[in-house]
Amino acid sequence: MAEKVYDVIIVGAGIAGMTAAIYARRANKSTLVLESKTYGGQIINTFNIANWPGEPGISGVDLSQNIYKQVEDLGAEVEFSEVITVKDNGETKEIETDDGMYVGRSLIIAVGSVDREMGVPREQEMTGRGVSYCATCDGAFYKDKDVVIVGGGNTAFYDALYLADVAKKVYLVHRRDSFRADAALVEKVRAKKNVEFVLEVRPVEILGEKKVEGLVVEKKDGKKQNLVVDGVFVAVGRVPATKIFSDLIDLDNKGYVVAGEDCRTSCAGVFVAGDCRTKDVRQLVTAASDGAIAANEAVRYLG
Ligand code: NAP
Repeated sequence: MAEKVYDVIIVGAGIAGMTAAIYARRANKSTLVLESKTYGGQIINTFNIANWPGEPGISGVDLSQNIYKQVEDLGAEVEFSEVITVKDNGETKEIETDDGMYVGRSLIIAVGSVDREMGVPREQEMTGRGVSYCATCDGAFYKDKDVVIVGGGNTAFYDALYLADVAKKVYLVHRRDSFRADAALVEKVRAKKNVEFVLEVRPVEILGEKKVEGLVVEKKDGKKQNLVVDGVFVAVGRVPATKIFSDLIDLDNKGYVVAGEDCRTSCAGVFVAGDCRTKDVRQLVTAASDGAIAANEAVRYLG
């Protein structure tokens, strides 16, 4: 049994979780942040953040480091371990991790989201062998090679801009002929001479045994096209990383934690912040905003 009972335990050290930690510590509550990977969350793969007020152009890594330092300076504890199960004991919540058990009087879930897969056979097996979910992490391996990006949102188009300057040829594969990506961004990509749009197709097969040698895409009429490439960059959105909480709190049919702007979940003493919450706008500033609200609600709950 754990010796210490924290006032607030936060799962996830992205922008939402770290902001919650800042607010919880400023309210003088003992605070533990549990993170399975590294602090910063989704933004650590972003070179240039254009919409964080006051610091246009800051990199995701720099912003994360600044916020993490603030969290540490305020005296929050941070443990890098993965949460396996969470149990509600009423006045306390028991959090089992791969590193031991932690107990808190309140819990803030700020786990964000994970990359959605294309759903093509052998996608997981070929990840790291030419299939990647992060152009800024892996793009440099494809200097003067041919690559394909799958997706029609802002991520796919930012990836296309980045990869067009690295790779020889970039195919942008999308299942429709219109895009979720911002129109201005689409125009920038259209202006790149080495980017070819392959539209109204779905990816169906990854070619290559030990490493990627191509991607097969299929049109609605069943006609197939082989794109001969060395790399497949998947940018088809993200899904909430909430599975481990499904017995504890209400999730919607897509897996998002059901909560309004007060960030309260269906379980007393459990709050949610950031991209894993049901909400309309998933941006850095709204994640930070959720973190502040969830921590304030937790402080109010603790009395
Ligand atoms: P997204 O906007 O949800 O776009 C996902 C794309 O993938 C859509 O075009 C979708 O097609 C396609 N797709 C989904 N499932 C698929 C499947 N199984 N097979 C093939 N295609 C599939 O995701 P995102 O681009 O990652 O962006 C997420 C959020 O972050 C957005 O709000 C975006 O604006 C934001 N973002 C902002 C910035 C920035 O401002 N700096 C950068 C990146 C992302 P359909 O369109 O047909 O559904």
